Amino acid sequence: MKKIFILYTGGTIGMSKDYHTGSLIPFQLENIYNNIPELQLLGVELSSFSFEKPIDSSDMNIALWTEMANVIQKNYASYDGFVVLHGTDTMSYSASAMSFMLQGIQKPVIFTGSQLPIGDLRTDAKENLITSIYFASLQENQVPIVQEVSIYFEYKLFRANRTTKFSTEHFDAYMSPNFPLLGTSGVTLQVEKEHLWTTKQSDFTLETNFKNTIGVFTYFPHCTYSTLRQLVEDDSIEAIVLQTFGSGNIPNHEENFEILRAARMLEKKIIVTSQCVLGKINIGKYQNSNIFKEIDAIDGKDMTTESIITKCMYLLGKKLSYFEFKQQYESNLFGELTDNS
Ligand code: ASP
Repeated sequence: MKKIFILYTGGTIGMSKDYHTGSLIPFQLENIYNNIPELQLLGVELSSFSFEKPIDSSDMNIALWTEMANVIQKNYASYDGFVVLHGTDTMSYSASAMSFMLQGIQKPVIFTGSQLPIGDLRTDAKENLITSIYFASLQENQVPIVQEVSIYFEYKLFRANRTTKFSTEHFDAYMSPNFPLLGTSGVTLQVEKEHLWTTKQSDFTLETNFKNTIGVFTYFPHCTYSTLRQLVEDDSIEAIVLQTFGSGNIPNHEENFEILRAARMLEKKIIVTSQCVLGKINIGKYQNSNIFKEIDAIDGKDMTTESIITKCMYLLGKKLSYFEFKQQYESNLFGELTDNS
């Protein structure tokens, strides 16, 4: 029998209505088990761990990611696979963060959750949880087939650090804009083996020294620059993520350029990303992105916002020089970006 470890962090999947306010609040793990008696019939041995206080995933933070990673590391040798039950709102952030924390894993870590609580008659929780457990227990010649952090949701298995939540409404809530699916669930489970990640590392190591000293600035037509200036002048901010137009274009405005040049002088890491979810950054394609060549800004390539932020948190923790940071940030470390993009 395969042994699967379930880590319950909270989210809609286990929520119930608070009768005073009418709002959904996280509930204990037993709530899930009591609502899916089928779990006994799966033919896998399940063990579980719950956060002491299950959360709405909007309350996620680096300390809780560290706890998640530590729990997985502690149980890594004893289980065939891991399923993390998580709120959908920040699941792509947490799953991306795990892809940078759990380095060299050779077992599946599959995040899932649901759009409707487990107790709801129309819930999507049962299918998501049961199929995640199946994907986590898939093996070939006694070797796990999936050896990376992934998200399973509404019949699709995704590489975690390529996903983004795009719908508050549909059961089909996630997309992987720049990378193909890892698998699908129909009458049988299909795995796209050519897209799976395999580590080059021989040992499993933990990297939990993440830093949140990041600012984000979104350009819009006729924007003012006071917020960008504040970020640059704030000593506690080490990296600034710029959400630019299209393939990396920004207003051709002297105040904008003067602030960006000052940021570079201060060795702030300027990361160029796009407001588009599909496609990649292409610095120099248009004149309106040439400033980024001049200040040697960091290219966010085709990464999702969730990967942009969590990769930045991970690399800031490594205390790299500007050029080491840029070199690693623009490299494909754990499948989070397309080589040569
Ligand atoms: N607010 C919830 C959460 O992310 C939403 C969900 O789980 O679907 O925890």
